[in-house]
Parts: sequence; C-alpha cells; structure tokens
Amino acid sequence: MSETVWSTGAPGEIVRRAGGVPGRTTFPTLDELATSFESTRAAHPDLVRRRRIGTSRLSEPIHVYTVGQGTKQNLVVGGVHPNEPIGSITAQHLISELCADRGLREAFDATWHIVPCIDPDGYRLNESWFGQPTDRLYYARRFYRPAPDEQVEWSFPVDYKRAYFDRMMPETQALARLMDAVKPDVYVPLHNAELGGVYYYVSRVSQPLFDLLHAVPQALGLPLALGEPESGDLVAAADAIYLMFDFAHTYDWLEDLGVDPVGPKPAGDSSTAYVARYGTLSLIAELPYWSHPASDDTTPTTESYAALLKRTSEQHLETGRVLTDALAAAGPYLSLDTPLRRGAEAFAPGIAESGRAGLARAGQPGSARPATVAEQFSCEDVVHMFRLRFGSMTLQALEAECRAGLAPLEVRRAAQDLAALYATWEHDAVRATPATPIALNKVAGVQYGAVLAAGALAAGLLDS
Ligand SMILES: [Zn+2]
Repeated sequence: MSETVWSTGAPGEIVRRAGGVPGRTTFPTLDELATSFESTRAAHPDLVRRRRIGTSRLSEPIHVYTVGQGTKQNLVVGGVHPNEPIGSITAQHLISELCADRGLREAFDATWHIVPCIDPDGYRLNESWFGQPTDRLYYARRFYRPAPDEQVEWSFPVDYKRAYFDRMMPETQALARLMDAVKPDVYVPLHNAELGGVYYYVSRVSQPLFDLLHAVPQALGLPLALGEPESGDLVAAADAIYLMFDFAHTYDWLEDLGVDPVGPKPAGDSSTAYVARYGTLSLIAELPYWSHPASDDTTPTTESYAALLKRTSEQHLETGRVLTDALAAAGPYLSLDTPLRRGAEAFAPGIAESGRAGLARAGQPGSARPATVAEQFSCEDVVHMFRLRFGSMTLQALEAECRAGLAPLEVRRAAQDLAALYATWEHDAVRATPATPIALNKVAGVQYGAVLAAGALAAGLLDS
C-alpha cells in the first residue's frame, strides 16, 4: 500500500476497506475471541505485544493487544456493553489488517491498543445466542444486559448535584488505568444497537469525518437511523450523528422535564466522559443486527410527534409496571442474587422512567408537529425492544430459581404468568417490525470504517 493512497484519498480507501471484512454467520465466544487474538499474536510476534490490564469479577484475565509504534495513541475497546458483540468481529479484523498491512500501520502514525473484551463475565452470559444471531426472538430470549451500575460503559465516577457514584468494578478500574497510561488521541468503545439503521456519537465536529461516516454505510447498503434518537437530550451534529453526551447532560435534561434524575440505584458516568480529560477524540458507531426500510424515511405521517410520544410512553409505563409487579410478587421468595436478576430489577423502573420522560416531552411546544415515518417506526420498535429484552431478563431470573429447585409456588406462578404475556409480546414484535438480518461482515465493516475514520481524522488524513 503506497503512501499516496492514504495522503490523497483516505476517505475512498476507508470506504473500500470497510467492504473488505470477511463473511461470517456467528459471533465469536469469549474463548474463540481470545484464541483468534492469540493466533494473530503468534503469527506476528514482532508486531503484537500483549499486556494484562486487569481481572474480571469472576477471575477472567483481561488483556490489551498493542500494534504499531506511531505517535498517535488509538484505543479500541470491545465488550463495554457485553450484549453488543459486533465489535468482536471489528476488533479481530482490525488487528489482523494492522498485522498484514504495513501501509495501514504507517499511514495512521499510530500505536493501536485493542482490548478484545473488557467485560468477559457479561459477554459469557450472552454467548448462548451468538451461534444464531439472526433470529430476534431467539436472541432476546437469551439476552443479558448488565444493570447500569454493572456496565463498564456507565460505571465511571461521577459527582454531580445530588448524584454520586464511585463503585467502579474491577473491569472499569482496568479500563481507567489503561486510559490513564495511554492518554488516547482516539478512543472507540465498540457498541452496537439492535434494529433499524446506523448512527454515531462523536466528541468532535468535523465535516470530512461526517461525510465519511455517511459514505461508509451508504457504500455497504445500510440505511442511516433518521428516527427517534436513543434519548431526547441528544444533539444531532448531522444526520444520524450525535454529539457525545455524559451523565451531567442527561441529569439536567431529566431535571428540567420534572423526572427524578437519580434513581434508586444510580450508575456512574461514561467511559468517553472519563477519557475526555485527555482531549481524546471519541467515536461510537451504533450498528443494527436487523435493518428496516422505515429507518431513514423522513416522510411526515398523519400522527403528531406529541401523540406518538404519548402513545409509546404509555406503553413503556405499562411494560415497566408489569415487570415491576412480577418482580414484586416473586421478590420475597427469590434466593439467587444473579446478574440477570439485578439487571431485571434495575431496568423495570428504568423503562417507566423512559415513559415519564416521554410524556413530559409530549407536552412541550416543539412536539406539536407531524411525526415522520422513521420516528414512528423507531419509537414503536423501542416498545418492542424493551418488552423483549427486559421481559426476557425478568423471565430468565425467575426461571433460574425454578431450575435450581428453589422456587415456591409464588415464583412459579409469577414465571408462568410472565411467560404467557411474553409470548404475546413476541407475537406483537414480529408482526409489527419484521426484522431483516444484515450480513455480519457489513455491520462490522461499517464499524471498522468508523474506527479507521477516527484514526484518519486524528492523523490529519481527512483535512484536505
Ligand atoms: Zn452499548
């Protein structure tokens, strides 16, 4: 690879490379991921250095792999949310490309630090669906997302108004130490979304970067997500590109809406908020497993945005109420303090909080306008997503008690009742939003392109 390609045509080169991720149909398990990184290291002992940065709560070692000798320090971290494994494919591809291609190593003038998985314990709890990732119901029924205060992404320290959090997990501490040692120029935590289109979070405004972040999914045939953002406080810098947000931003927004910003079990700040002290360029690429043609359809509908928010927020309140009731009915009889149960107990009130925020927003003057097709689709799909994800986690927590032989009748009844309701939620979700799986090499390709785009911006390759 010649220097000329990178110095004069970096965007085109990155788009081309985003399309070059090999095809695959499953996500790697933790052991497969470790084996893959170790094989790359064994094949390139002169290029790849490995260092242990910490230990998980269940005693798994956590490693960083470092490639290159350049002046820019680029940090890429998988497993920040262990239910989001697209980044495993991205990380595998990044290290193998860096090892195989001297031009790539030299063009970015970078030392690349890659953590394959920062939350091995949480990742293992999701592995049961990794072999069949295209079936949304199969995936949801085995889904595990840690409670917010057990997510590496949202367990960095915070001290803001009435909120205080300093219970960093060993995994979070490992990442903080690594950030302090590396002082990254670029930080890309490898997240992904679920259904719809592609969107991003950026800590820096750059038109050449935005153009590239739009060009990559377009070249791979993936729609942008032009509907409702993940949270009403997000600020769009361009289509489907939001400014990075932090704890304080969301806190103030909830406070202004009249919603309590401090829940019963508060979490902390984000990893990107922590690393911001080093002037780091942070970028997150959110990729779906399933696409939908409504994702980027900005045609106005006959429903007002206010009515859409009210309708779907009331559904969130109902979902939150049902799951809270199920946990309350079984609660006095539960024996097992599992990550699934702690997650279920945290998310049930969290869904209701989303509903309250949505209802408050529905009453704001700016909501008196027609909703777009994309907004209608995305707001409705979040209702299904919450029901499938957190209904399943609640059900799994109750079923674990039954399987362990610890469940009195009250727990079995709560599990049976919720299972019956969950079956109707599954039916509704399939009927409402038929999910078209996207090839895994395409979604990982968009994320790989985003990683290279961030590296290219830091290296001055996107300025011209
Ligand atoms: Zn995430």
